[in-house]
Formats: sequence, structure tokens, C-alpha cells
Amino acid sequence: MGDDFDAIVVGAGFAGCSAAIRLAQKGANTLLLERGAEPGVKNLSGGILWGHDLDPILPKWQEEMPLERHIVSKRFGFLTNDKALSFEYRDESWSRPPYNAHSVLRARTDAWLAKKAEEAGATLVSAVPVDKLHVENGKVRGVVQSGEVMTAPVTIVTDGYNSRTTLGTEIRRGNPPRANQGQQRLPEDHTEVGVKEVYKLDPSVIEDRFGVQGTEGRAQEWVLGFLPPGIMAGGFLYTNRDTLSLGMIVQLGSLKGRGVASHEIIERFKLHPAIEPLVRGGELVEYGAKLIPDGYASRPDRLWGDGYLVAGDAAGFVFSNGIVIQGMSYAARSGILAADTALDALSSKDFSSSKLSAYGDRLVRAHVLPDFERFAGMDRVKWNSRIYSEYPEMLTQLFHDWMTAGPSGHPAVAGVALRTAISSKVGWMPLLRDLVDSAREV
Ligand SMILES: Cc1cc2nc3c(=O)[nH]c(=O)nc-3n(C[C@H](O)[C@H](O)[C@H](O)COP(=O)(O)OP(=O)(O)OC[C@H]3O[C@@H](n4cnc5c(N)ncnc54)[C@H](O)[C@@H]3O)c2cc1C
Repeated sequence: MGDDFDAIVVGAGFAGCSAAIRLAQKGANTLLLERGAEPGVKNLSGGILWGHDLDPILPKWQEEMPLERHIVSKRFGFLTNDKALSFEYRDESWSRPPYNAHSVLRARTDAWLAKKAEEAGATLVSAVPVDKLHVENGKVRGVVQSGEVMTAPVTIVTDGYNSRTTLGTEIRRGNPPRANQGQQRLPEDHTEVGVKEVYKLDPSVIEDRFGVQGTEGRAQEWVLGFLPPGIMAGGFLYTNRDTLSLGMIVQLGSLKGRGVASHEIIERFKLHPAIEPLVRGGELVEYGAKLIPDGYASRPDRLWGDGYLVAGDAAGFVFSNGIVIQGMSYAARSGILAADTALDALSSKDFSSSKLSAYGDRLVRAHVLPDFERFAGMDRVKWNSRIYSEYPEMLTQLFHDWMTAGPSGHPAVAGVALRTAISSKVGWMPLLRDLVDSAREV
């Protein structure tokens, strides 16, 4: 008996929609399944969409997609209890087409992308939480939902990091999640928790506060150096058209046993003297939390096999080095590459693991795997507890001593830096090692 579809895509996020659009555009009979009542309602992203990864499937996406603001500057810095130290990069070339990055709200973008998949000819079915992959003779041949089997010779798995469909399969037998006394769990040291709040504000207030005009926007990211020692978290604040996205990302393992909940961290971030005036008066309109993979260390065991391909967060493709987080662009890129591999398989009617391994070659040529391999040591640098405790204090103290007017005249910066380094709790060797590590890995 024939299959129900040529291809099934599980999860209508950036990866799944991109895959479904490509498949349908090339004439494949494609089923796109989404567990949320509508695409986007379950999704959460900071979110800055970097780059142009949708170009191959939607050449006019920048004109048509519900984007918020195009990002013209990026601020990065450190917050301590009462101080803030940051630098801002502004680039005029980012303010004209083809633009470099846009702030987005996923409820809007994902719904739009899913609609594009339907317009291309894919069948979208929402409110369908796929239970598992359907396996026949050791080969994936579709999916199972509430006991009903839907078949296709190739399935693209794009159901996010906390992927239910890959649990306990050869895709995630080992890392992650690891087997834990019969249960599966995500590796805490390679998993981040993201929490986001959206605040409604008049666009003119946003423009005044952030010094932007029209559809210009700004992105800010902060190391949160005011938390109890050991907790490693960063905060972000992005401008949308008439809202602000405020959120934080914390390493899951660093929260353990410290008695601080993620909502307390976001609250303290929001009330920081450098942040509060920017958000003041905003009305909370959205709140959500989600797990994020930590790049290469969070990858599953397999990215393809007999009858299946894995893309997006489900494949661990989130690039985050503490200064930039990029998951949506890799999700779109890997989704398209998975679709191209599935299309080749459909033409040759060969859905074996060896045929689908061409996906690996495509991921290499499109710089997905090389990016993650090249920066495989990044989480060692990013999750160095000194970045969240000693360095914010040390750096803000340096500027305090250098810039605070006092009775003993204006100090020379070299002298202040030397005194700060000597009095800091960080020894010379760790400081040197951290500098070398950062230069190499970030
Ligand atoms: C707080 C936060 C901030 C972030 N900031 C940024 C940022 O600024 N820039 C950036 O590029 N990235 C950012 N990311 C990462 C980015 O959101 C992800 O990398 C991206 O969403 C991955 O897309 P995806 O399609 O692979 O997975 P997802 O977006 O997770 O989509 C998976 C889809 O599958 C559906 N699904 C799940 N299980 C099932 C099932 N069993 N059956 C059917 N459907 C299912 C889900 O409902 C969802 O629609 C951020 C993430 C968080 C949490």
C-alpha cells in the first residue's frame, strides 16, 4: 500500500516551516504537523532574526513577513547591583536593505511561515502533538499520534530541543537526553532556560527611550553580575514595534540548589537601575519559558537515519556565545537542507541512511556543522562562573575608580587597571587563561 504523504514534517517552527515550504514548492506531497493550536503559539524567542536564511525559499520575506524592527545597533555589557558597563556597536549598513537583523515575535512570524507552507501546497494540521516516530522494520516510516499512524517514506523531525519524538530512539540514545534510571533527561550543564516577557508601550515612547526612528530597533544583551555566586545568566532587551521583549537565559545546572527561581532573576533584571527606566510603564502582555540547547554539546546522537532527518533545535543548532544567540537562522537553513536531501531521496526512491547522509555534506557546505564544530569549546568560555561574578565587579570597579571625581586628582588609567587587577579576587593566571580562551573560542 502507498504512503499517505511524500514527506512528514513534525513541528511548525522556523525549521519545520522552512522544510515544508521547500518540499511543497518542489511538488512533494507534504504534511506539516504542529502540536500548538496554531503555529507560533507555543514558540518563544528573544528574538532577533539574524541574516538571510529564508532567501532561498521566500525571496521577498523581508517585505512581506510580519517583522518588528530592523536592528541598527547592538549593546553588550555587564550589570552589577548598582552599576552598568557596556559598549554599543552601531552600523549604518544595517539600516538599509538587505538589513542584517530584525526583531521578531514568533506568534506572528511562525503563523506567517506556516501560511506560506500551505500556500506552497503543504497540508498543515495544528493541535496535533505527535507521540512518536512510526518505525517499520527498523526504518522510520511516518509518525504516530493518539494511536493513529500517518506514513511517509521520509520524516523531518523539527519539534524543538525538548523533542518528544526523538526520546528513547537511536536519535537521542546518549547525548542528550541521557538515560537516568530508566528516564530521559536533558544534560543540565548543556541546557539553558530562556524566559521572556513582552511589554506593551507606545511606539513613540520606545523611539524616545531607545533613540530610534521609524522601523529602526536596538538589541541589548547583559551579563547579570548581581546574582548569587554560581548562577550564570544573561539578560536581553529588544525593541519591537509597540512592545519590548525582555528576558533572560540561565544555564540550567547553575540554578540547581541555589534557591533562586528563574522568575526572580528576570524580576531583578527588570528592576535594575539601567533597565527599569526603559521598561517603565509597560504593560505585560506575554510571558513564556523554554529550554534552549547549548550548541554542539547538546546535539543528538544522529542527525539522519533510515527514513528520517533532524533539523533546527532538535538537532542542537543554536549558536550562542554570550554576545549573540542565533537559533532561528540555523533552524531555517538546516530545515531547507533537510528538505533538499528528502527531495533527492524522493527522486531516487532511496530513503536509506546512506542516501540521507548527503544531509551531513550539505550541513558542512552550508557552514552549519563547521560553525558548531569550530566553536565547540565556546560553552567552556561562556559558562565560566568568573564572567558572572568576579569580572562584572572588577570591570565596573575599574571604571568607578577611574571616572569618579575625588579629592586626590585624576588617576591614570594604567594605574587604576593595575590596582583593580591586584585587588580583584581573580588571580593573574586565571585572568590570562580566560583572555586566551575568549580570544580563541568566541
Ligand atoms: C528566551 C529565548 C530567546 C531566544 N533568542 C533568540 C534570538 O534572539 N535569536 C535567535 O535566532 N534565536 C533565539 N532563540 C532560539 C530560537 O528560538 C530557536 O533556536 C528556534 O526557535 C529554533 O526553531 P525550531 O523550529 O528548530 O524549533 P522551535 O521554534 O522550538 O519549534 C518547534 C515546533 O515544534 C512544535 N512541536 C513540539 N513538539 C511537537 C510534537 N510532539 N508534535 C508536533 N509539534 C511539536 C512546537 O510547538 C514548535 O512549534 C531564543 C530562544 C529562547 C527560548
